[in-house]
Parts: sequence; structure tokens; C-alpha cells
Amino acid sequence: MVKKALAYSRFINQISKERQPSLIREMTKILASAPPEMIPLSGGLPNPKLFPFKDLTVQVTDGKPISLTGKDMEQALQYLPTGGLPALVKQLKALQMSMHSPSTDIWPDTEVLVTAGSQDGLCKCLEVLLDQGSTVLMEEFVYSGTLSIINPYKPQYKVVKSDSEGIIPEDLEKVLSNWEPGSEDPSAPKFLYINPTGANPTGTVLPECRRHKIYQLCSKYNLLILEDDPYYFLQFQEASKRPPSFFSMDTEGRVIRFDSFSKILSSGIRLGFVTGPKPIVDRVMLHMQVSVLHASSLSQVLVSNLLEQWGEEGFKNHITKVENFYMERRDELIKAADKHLKGVCEYSVPLGGMFLWIKVPAIKSTWDMIMERGLAKNIMLMPGKAFQADPDKPSQYLRAAFSVAPVKDFEPAMERLAELIKTEMELQ
Ligand code: PMP
Repeated sequence: MVKKALAYSRFINQISKERQPSLIREMTKILASAPPEMIPLSGGLPNPKLFPFKDLTVQVTDGKPISLTGKDMEQALQYLPTGGLPALVKQLKALQMSMHSPSTDIWPDTEVLVTAGSQDGLCKCLEVLLDQGSTVLMEEFVYSGTLSIINPYKPQYKVVKSDSEGIIPEDLEKVLSNWEPGSEDPSAPKFLYINPTGANPTGTVLPECRRHKIYQLCSKYNLLILEDDPYYFLQFQEASKRPPSFFSMDTEGRVIRFDSFSKILSSGIRLGFVTGPKPIVDRVMLHMQVSVLHASSLSQVLVSNLLEQWGEEGFKNHITKVENFYMERRDELIKAADKHLKGVCEYSVPLGGMFLWIKVPAIKSTWDMIMERGLAKNIMLMPGKAFQADPDKPSQYLRAAFSVAPVKDFEPAMERLAELIKTEMELQ
């Protein structure tokens, strides 16, 4: 039982409220758990015997090959219930239990939904909540993919300041004090979007004490928390220093968590999962029922098989390997930055994720320097402007990814960036 049952109706917009379950999709769900005697004449399932793919064997780096043949292969190529492959959903629930130890106050009313990458879940969840002109609380620097979802709603952005540790709770409180706690005023924000771990673009990991303060504020002002956490499994601090997720501290059913397999298994496999209060997650699922129908069956079968053979220990070993790999790259990029950018740029060592967030205080805007002169010098970075709510405000920031470029190129890259900055300063 949820201790203080939230009235979710306040959060859900009219379009989402109008969505009705798709009968065909509901039938697919029933069929998935039907006894073998069931004669299925209801759905429009294509006959898998005519699919041209016969069987599939995938070699696994740290494990046994995954072989799909016969019925297994047919299932991997067939439609699935929208919620996800039942075996995978069960594994993901166990994973969430193990990683976050959710409160018994919320867990019985929590749903897990497999999505086509976490972006799919995030997009559809925002589409459940947003109205044209909604007030949206945002951290100062935000993942551009989220801004692209929200911008067409022409929202009233309320930007909350952040520093080298992430969003500042005191500033959030200041922004929220424009409304009465629990206000039903339609101009009051309904949620806080936050990317708390190894944030894109800043690389910050929000400390535990801030998370508690923010949760309390969201509780006081009756806000949902959209915890977009695709870099949760990509942290560089030692285990004892890693902060708990918002989901793990939720006792009121106000956190919707977005996880991703993109950074740890494959980004092209397009798998993520949403975990949160059933009334909201069900609305996301209804949208999936009429859009993608479900995340890729083949991807779900492969990941389910992989998780099965790895077990929790194998999964954790893989995560450690991924984290060590990126941490070494981060250290190399920091070394190169320290050599060439010291005194010219400001940056903090990222505690997770894939990005170094760089401020160039001496120049007013990094846009032209990157988009024109940088490209001409064969160096690509993301200009900071891509990560702010106000597209017209000049940005002094840059985002450098340390994930894929060859490590040997980090030093020439930082050297070129230093030259670019020098030229830019002369041009100003
Ligand atoms: N949120 C954030 C903060 C991200 O950085 C990304 C990936 N760039 C996503 C969501 C989407 O990830 P996925 O591949 O799981 O859709």
C-alpha cells in the first residue's frame, strides 16, 4: 500500500487521459500467458514459419554463445506484449530490487515497462504530463534530447541553478516558492526532470544530501520526479560514495525512473526500461500500444538470455569492466586538458558518464568557435548552447565526449582547442 496515495489525475494531460487500451494488444498479452490448448484466432500474428531468418548464434565476450533456434527463434521474431518479454520484465524487476531496494510502501504499486531505449520511455512519459505552455522545472544544463521533446510545447521554463555537484536544492526551493505547496494552480510545475548520475552534459553526480533535500521539496510541492539515469551503471566513485537513486528513497510513488542498456550493452539494440507508479507507467504503455507496439523482440530475447546466463554477479562484473574502461579514458582526457587548457578553461573531473563539461570564461559564446572554426580545424565538440533551455542565450561552455575518440587523439584535440580559444580571444 502506498502510504500517502498520490492523486495521479492531476499529473496526466487530457490526451493521455483519453487513451483507451488497444484490444488487439490486450489480446496479445492474454495469449502470451495462455495454456497450450488455446487456439489463437484473435490476433493478426504473422506466421513465423515464413520468416526468412532461421537461427541465430551470438558470440558473447564474457560468456557462452547465445543460440536461438526453433521455437525460441520464432518467439524472438514474433510480436510481444507491449509491456515487454515476460521473462525480461521479471529479470528487470529483480534487478531494480537488487540495485535500489525500493520501499515496500511503493513496490507493490510499481510497474516496469520495457521501452525502445530510455529515450522512448522519457518522450512518452513527458507526453503524458505536458500541456502546451506547461511550467517546466529544469536544471541549468540539460540533455538536449530532453529539450527537444519539451520545446514544441512552448513551455515556461523555470531554470534552477546548478554547480559542480549538480542542481542546487536551495535554488530549487527559491523557484518553487513562487507557488503555494501542493498548489492546484495550473501554472504550477507538475514534475522535476533530473539526470542525477554522470549527467549529460556536466558529468556531475548529485550527492546524497542534495537528493534527500530535493525529494523533500518535491514532496512538499507535490511534484513527480523524472529520474533520467542512463549513466547509473557508469559511475567512477568507489561503491561506498555512490549516492542512492531517487527511486530508492521514494515512499510516495512520485519517482519515475528511466534506465538504459545503451551505455552498457549496446545502444543500437534500443532497450531501456521505465520503473514507476503504475497509473503513470500504464499511460506510457498505452501510448506504446499505438506507436512502436513494443520494444524489439529480438533485442529483448537476447538481453534476457544474456542476463540469465550472467546472473547478478556476471552483470556486476560487466559493469565494473565498463566503468573501468571509461574511467581510464576520463583520466586520459583530464591529463590532456590539464596540459593544454589550464588557466584558460574551468572544468571539474566528471564522476560518471562520458562527458567533460568545459567553461571558457574569456569568451562570450562558444558557438561560432566550434561550429565554424573548430570544424575547419578538424575538431568536433558540442557547443554548450545545445544544453540550455533558452536557445538565444550565449553559452561559454563546451562538451567533450571521452567515449569513442582514440585516446591517442585526446592530446592533439585539447591542443587544437587551446589554439581555437586563443584565436577566439583575439577575434573578440
Ligand atoms: N537521457 C540521457 C541523459 C542521455 O544522455 C541519453 C542518451 N544520449 C538518453 C536519455 C537516451 O538514451 P537511450 O539510448 O537509452 O534512448
